Amino acid sequence: MEQQGADAFDPEEYLFTCLTYRESQRVLSEQVLPAVAKLVLVHFHWQLTDILERHKSNSAQLLLDAHVQPAPCNPVSAHAAPPHSSLHCGVCLQLVRKESLLALPCQHPFCKSCWEQHSTVLVKDGVGVGISCMAQECPLRMPEDFVLPLLPSEELREKYRRYLFRDSVESHYQLQLCPGADCPIVIQVQEPRARRVQCSRCSEVFW
Ligand SMILES: [Zn+2]
Ligand SMILES: [Zn+2]
Ligand SMILES: [Zn+2]
Repeated sequence: MEQQGADAFDPEEYLFTCLTYRESQRVLSEQVLPAVAKLVLVHFHWQLTDILERHKSNSAQLLLDAHVQPAPCNPVSAHAAPPHSSLHCGVCLQLVRKESLLALPCQHPFCKSCWEQHSTVLVKDGVGVGISCMAQECPLRMPEDFVLPLLPSEELREKYRRYLFRDSVESHYQLQLCPGADCPIVIQVQEPRARRVQCSRCSEVFW
């Protein structure tokens, strides 16, 4: 593939940039964004104009669509404050003091060790942005500031950050990870349509 039509192919003609990990983080504004905002951006492929329009017309619906806020008439929140000081964790069924239960905005409460296990298993499976609430059929996403303190080792936290980064890049309409073996370069194209690009680091050519 590299040889065929190579004479006609001039990478300079195309508007694309090869970015390092750090540079692409800047494009994704990774350092400054609140975790929930990032989930919204990923869900809507970082199409800012579209997101702002949706926010203007119905911000509640935007957060609902991005799976970061529950539907307004959630039956669980109707009795979110039961009189008992302890509750059964919905996963391990152990009686847990209310203060030791954790819940996302959907108010599905589970004990900390069940949340920890849930996050650990999914991160080990390579899941990043897609980690969601443990309640059945609850689509709510777990933001990274909820997941990170639950992961038991720095090694897992680092893996998780990498998966989040991968998901951010893959969801971005202008970014693409270089498919070259173990190549950390991210390609930024100025237009969303597919074009032939060449990685400045590993020289891989791809569409
Ligand atoms: Zn539990
Ligand atoms: Zn939930
Ligand atoms: Zn490359």
